[in-house]
Amino acid sequence: MTPEQQERALRLHRAAPVIDCHNDSIQATLTGDSRYNPLRYRPARPRRLRHKSEAGHWDFPRALEAGQAAQMTNLLVPWVKGGPYARSVLKAYRQLQTDLAAAPELACLATTAREIEQAHAAGRVAVLLSMEGAEVLEGELDLLHVYHQLGVRSMGLTWMYRNPVAEGNWEDTGAGLSDFGRQVVREMNDLRMLVDVAHATERTFWDTLETSTAPVICSHTGCRALVRNFGGHAPSRYLTDEQLRALAAQGGVTGIFFSANRELDDDTADVTALARFIAHAAEVCGAGHVGLGSDLDGGFPPHGMEDIRGLPRLTTALLDLGFSEPEVLGILGGNWLRVFREVWGE
Ligand SMILES: [Zn+2]
Repeated sequence: MTPEQQERALRLHRAAPVIDCHNDSIQATLTGDSRYNPLRYRPARPRRLRHKSEAGHWDFPRALEAGQAAQMTNLLVPWVKGGPYARSVLKAYRQLQTDLAAAPELACLATTAREIEQAHAAGRVAVLLSMEGAEVLEGELDLLHVYHQLGVRSMGLTWMYRNPVAEGNWEDTGAGLSDFGRQVVREMNDLRMLVDVAHATERTFWDTLETSTAPVICSHTGCRALVRNFGGHAPSRYLTDEQLRALAAQGGVTGIFFSANRELDDDTADVTALARFIAHAAEVCGAGHVGLGSDLDGGFPPHGMEDIRGLPRLTTALLDLGFSEPEVLGILGGNWLRVFREVWGE
C-alpha cells in the first residue's frame, strides 16, 4: 500500500466513524489459548486491552491507530457447555471496566449512537457490549434486564449449540426459536436491544425475522455463495443470498467477518479476497446493509491484516473494487450507526 493510499484510508476513517460489530478480545485476554478458543497465538504474558500488545488482534491503542471509532465487543462465547454463563459474563465485564477506568483517555463505554459520535470526536474508541448466545440468560428474562442495565445493547441468540432460546449451527434439528425464545425476542424489542442472528440455524433465522418488530442484525458471518470449505462450521454459519436480502428488507445490517482464508480454504487469501466478500454481500442486498463484523481475536484475519491496524488496507481494497467514498463510509460504520440509532432510539 502506498503512503497516499494509507493517508486516503485514514482520512476516510476520521470521517466515518469506523465501527466493527463483533470481536472476542475480552475473552481472548481472559482465556488466552483455551482449547475452546480458536486463537493461534499464546500470549507471552497476560495482556490487557488498555495496553498495546503484539499478541492477538485488538486493543484500545491499536484500534485508535487504525482510526476506529467503536467496537462491539463480546462478553461471552459459551465455548463450554453448561456454563458458568452469568458468572463468566460478569467476570469479563469487570475485566473491561478496570481497563476503561484505568485508561479513560483511550476508551469509554457507549450505549447510544450519539455517544459513539462523541467518542469519535474526542479521539477515543467507544466500546459497545454484546453477548454471543442466550445461554447467558440462564432461562431468566430478568437477567436480560440486568445485562441491559450494565450497558449491553446487543445479544446473539445462539452460539454453536442449542440453548433454551434457539438452535445454533452445530445442533440443528430444525426446531428454530422456542416459545421462550419468542418471549426473549419480544422483550429485547421492548428494551430496544439489538437482536443478532449470527450463529443461528436457518430455521432460527427465519423465526427471528418473523418475530422481531425491529430490524435484526447478523453481526459476523460470511456469504455462503462464496464458501469453498465449511470446515468445522455448518453451512448455516454463513448467510445465503436470500437471507442477506431478507435481513436488509427488514432494515437490518450484516457484518462480514474477516476470515477470508478460512472461507476460501486458502491460507494465502488476502485483504482483496475479503473485500470481494463484502462486495458480494453489497451486490446482493445493497451497500447500505453491509458492515464490518471482524471476529478479531476469535477468527483468522486474511494476509495483509495481521491485526486491526491492517484496516486501511481493507478500505483501500474496497475503493479499488469501485465502491464510492460514501458507500465505503457506510460499510466502515455508517450503516451500523443507522441501525443502532433506529433500534436504540438515540
Ligand atoms: Zn461468533
